Amino acid sequence: MHELAAQIEGVVLEPSDPGFAAEVAGFNAAVSHTPTLVVGAASAADVVAAVRYAAEHSLPVRVQATGHGAHVAVADGLLITTTRMDAVTVDPRRRVATVQAGARWAAVVAAASPHGLAPITGSAASVGVVGYLLGGGLGPLARSHGFSSDRLLAATVVTADGDIVDASPTGDAELFWALRGGKGGLGVVTEIRVGLVDLPQLYAGSLTFDGAHAEAVLRGWIDWSASAPDDVTTSVALMRFPDLDVVPAEVRGRFVVALRLAYPGAAADGERLAAPLRALAPVEIDALDALPIADVARIHGDPSGPLPSWGWGALLTPLDQEFASTLTSLFHPSAPLPFLGIELRHLGGAVALDVEGGSAVGGREGAFAIHVLGAPDPSLFAEVLPRAAAGFAEAIRAWIAPATNIHWISHLPEAVEFASAWPEATFTRLAEVRRRVDPAGVFAYGPHA
Ligand SMILES: Cc1cc2nc3c(=O)[nH]c(=O)nc-3n(C[C@H](O)[C@H](O)[C@H](O)COP(=O)(O)OP(=O)(O)OC[C@H]3O[C@@H](n4cnc5c(N)ncnc54)[C@H](O)[C@@H]3O)c2cc1C
Repeated sequence: MHELAAQIEGVVLEPSDPGFAAEVAGFNAAVSHTPTLVVGAASAADVVAAVRYAAEHSLPVRVQATGHGAHVAVADGLLITTTRMDAVTVDPRRRVATVQAGARWAAVVAAASPHGLAPITGSAASVGVVGYLLGGGLGPLARSHGFSSDRLLAATVVTADGDIVDASPTGDAELFWALRGGKGGLGVVTEIRVGLVDLPQLYAGSLTFDGAHAEAVLRGWIDWSASAPDDVTTSVALMRFPDLDVVPAEVRGRFVVALRLAYPGAAADGERLAAPLRALAPVEIDALDALPIADVARIHGDPSGPLPSWGWGALLTPLDQEFASTLTSLFHPSAPLPFLGIELRHLGGAVALDVEGGSAVGGREGAFAIHVLGAPDPSLFAEVLPRAAAGFAEAIRAWIAPATNIHWISHLPEAVEFASAWPEATFTRLAEVRRRVDPAGVFAYGPHA
């Protein structure tokens, strides 16, 4: 048995141990981690012991909850997995959820909805709460409710010397500022407290059009979004679905366009807002209606994995009709681009408004976000997809915003791209916080970590 195991309630495994592969597996099926050691932590005390052991043995520390953010295989050091730490409790009176490091959004939605409350989640319920909040989090209600990290109230963090620190606006406010979007290198978060919202009514879902109407839908949506109210969040995904059994029959093997809308209000008002979008082209699947908040993940219908996954993304400046023509001339049913889909999300509204006291999140000024999902074939990930994405980025260069958000990068970035995930002053201030909580660089984070 490994010497560390005696101090750990969870598990300690080396690559040759049974159960190692399952312990390190995550959403991205193309990534197989082979750290020197994995510690499946069951408590904050386990995390402390793991971090202290790693620091003593000069092992870089990384953390994985669900592996939705695993873009590169970890090949050294100590990996802390948090899946065992998945408790969620809700205080309905204060409208606060207390969430352990390994919990997914689905668990918070399930715990909050019986009280008529909801967390501001991302598009996929299987994403981890803590990893998501650390990068900001732009979800289906982004324009009405802002970055999910705006609702972070406090975090318990294990620092590089194994201390447990409570970060909040009144306790280590600088670390708290950094945790709201600064993403990595800030310690291991063992638990957070996040604000919930009262969401009695939600009109939300998607309209699916045949891909032949892609340009008309994109043009119409771009036009419509220029004067869309701040409390409506929409997105458009152009999808080339493979002819596989896992794909729903009605879209299997087809090129389609899905237009999603989420409006936190009465269905009658939602219907009125959506009327011009329904009229853009013949709607094949109309799944836009009053939606119980517990079903928020149905708006985008993201896969829960595991899947081989490679992506590229950016934030965009305001879009125009030329963008619609450019995009649809590059990505259409017979386009040679090796992409499964391209998604555009409308930002602005509450996304642009910082919280009191400020936060480290990058990308508030983006008008839209674009995300390209590569074909799920790992043999394309090293060269073909990065080359195709670079060519695509060049073709839409005129609309790419200078800054992005770390979640939109979706692959291992080069230093310049990594730095663009935060405004310059934020990047510098984050580096100072990282130096303070981790002077020896125990937490491996950054472009080449
Ligand atoms: C299908 C899918 C849908 C998505 N939808 C959205 C979306 O709508 N909006 C959006 O903004 N993003 C979205 N993302 C991106 C996602 O939010 C990020 O990849 C996020 O990092 C995932 O967090 P995780 O904990 O689930 O993943 P993991 O891969 O387990 O963790 C990712 C990273 O988070 C950090 N981390 C996780 N746990 C801890 C911890 N306890 N302490 C310290 N650091 C930690 C680490 O740096 C780790 O490498 C999506 C991704 C996928 C694959």
